[in-house]
Amino acid sequence: MNTNRTFFLESLGCAKNLVDSEVMLGCLLNEGYELVSAVEEAAIIIVNTCSFIEDATRESLDTILEFAELKQTGACTHLVVCGCLPQRYKDELLQELPEVDLFLGAGGFQNIAAHLQALADNTVSKRLVADRPAFLLTDKTPRMLSVPGGSAYIKIAEGCSHHCTYCTIPSIKGPYRRRSSASIVKEARQLSADGIGEINLVAQDTTRYEGLDGLLKKLVAIKDLTWVRLLYCHPRHLTPDIIRLMAGEEKLCRYIDIPLQHIADPVLKKMGRRITRKKTEALISSIRRICPDIALRTTFIVGFPGETERDFEALLSFAEDTGFDHLGAFQYRDEEGTPASRLPDKIPEKVKKERYNLLMRGQADISRKKNSRFKGREIQVLVEGISANEHYNLQARTEFQAPEIDGVVYLKEPVTIGSFQRVKITRTLTYDLVGRVLEDSTE
Ligand code: SF4
Repeated sequence: MNTNRTFFLESLGCAKNLVDSEVMLGCLLNEGYELVSAVEEAAIIIVNTCSFIEDATRESLDTILEFAELKQTGACTHLVVCGCLPQRYKDELLQELPEVDLFLGAGGFQNIAAHLQALADNTVSKRLVADRPAFLLTDKTPRMLSVPGGSAYIKIAEGCSHHCTYCTIPSIKGPYRRRSSASIVKEARQLSADGIGEINLVAQDTTRYEGLDGLLKKLVAIKDLTWVRLLYCHPRHLTPDIIRLMAGEEKLCRYIDIPLQHIADPVLKKMGRRITRKKTEALISSIRRICPDIALRTTFIVGFPGETERDFEALLSFAEDTGFDHLGAFQYRDEEGTPASRLPDKIPEKVKKERYNLLMRGQADISRKKNSRFKGREIQVLVEGISANEHYNLQARTEFQAPEIDGVVYLKEPVTIGSFQRVKITRTLTYDLVGRVLEDSTE
């Protein structure tokens, strides 16, 4: 083993960041670098950071400082920080983090091998490379999947041209730009040939993809693919045609992840969401009409500047009436440089917390009730890995559960990870289910 070419990569943040990390893995392995699983053994430590909100920034900084110590105690000779943190904070980091040898912004990760070679040759001219992101991966971009379990993300577009007033992503990732559908289909074919059964389409806004229905039709035509899932839909771009396709195509998961952020018109207006309560409710009811058993996931922000008790009550009753299968929420925080951070009428932390707890307590009841309808049902699952719950061996997901963000189905039977199985749901919990494998479909 050539010790100064060993590397460890820590991937923080969202599924889109994970794809970037997998591209870096692919590029470095192609150049003969050796991936190690123990960070202490790595000569090169790479942290792919997230920084879209304060908590994510803090987690990135804590991780960098933890790994920086290994330059004293471990094998680490070079510490490299990539992604959203250097793209967002640029020069500030140069002073604050002298332990870091190289900062690569959100648009430079694909050239990681060349940058590491320059570090090794001591010919680095700039410690920070954070040009305006323009890169778009293709089916020819090296990539090594990092998560076993028969599932993979495909990034269909990059950046965002919406300008929600609280969001830093457009300033970090740049404007919306899409990949060609030919390149996406080729990548999906390659992944399915490598044994991937589930493809999860990601972008900041997947529904902005022109010709999305055509792309979905090409993807479900790939013989060995079992599931195609759409994540990160935007309510202004999700069309009934896409829902109809979902209702009619067995391989298209009957699952919609659609972050709505709020429902009260005054708040939606201040957020710059450019959609109204009336339009949102009409969209939800058309989704349910066209595809009654679809699973809906959403995200809300509570405590946005100026959010009145009445606005919050509207959100609470909307969440209750709609009955989302999966719901996540954030307590609003000022993000430096965003228009929302300059808005008056900030909500006290105590009130934000109360509103967050009220919303999530209500959702726990809804989730428990919705899960109970699965009791006794026979359903197909994808076995994704070792169970996080010690009482079970493995965990799987139904088409109504997305990777990493939703509940799972716990299993005892020792079936193959990455296989699709038919199970009977024997128990339902607040967020998770328990299943019994009917017959091992891999035997
Ligand atoms: S749609 Fe809005 S919240 Fe989502 S990434 Fe774009 S600007 Fe941010």
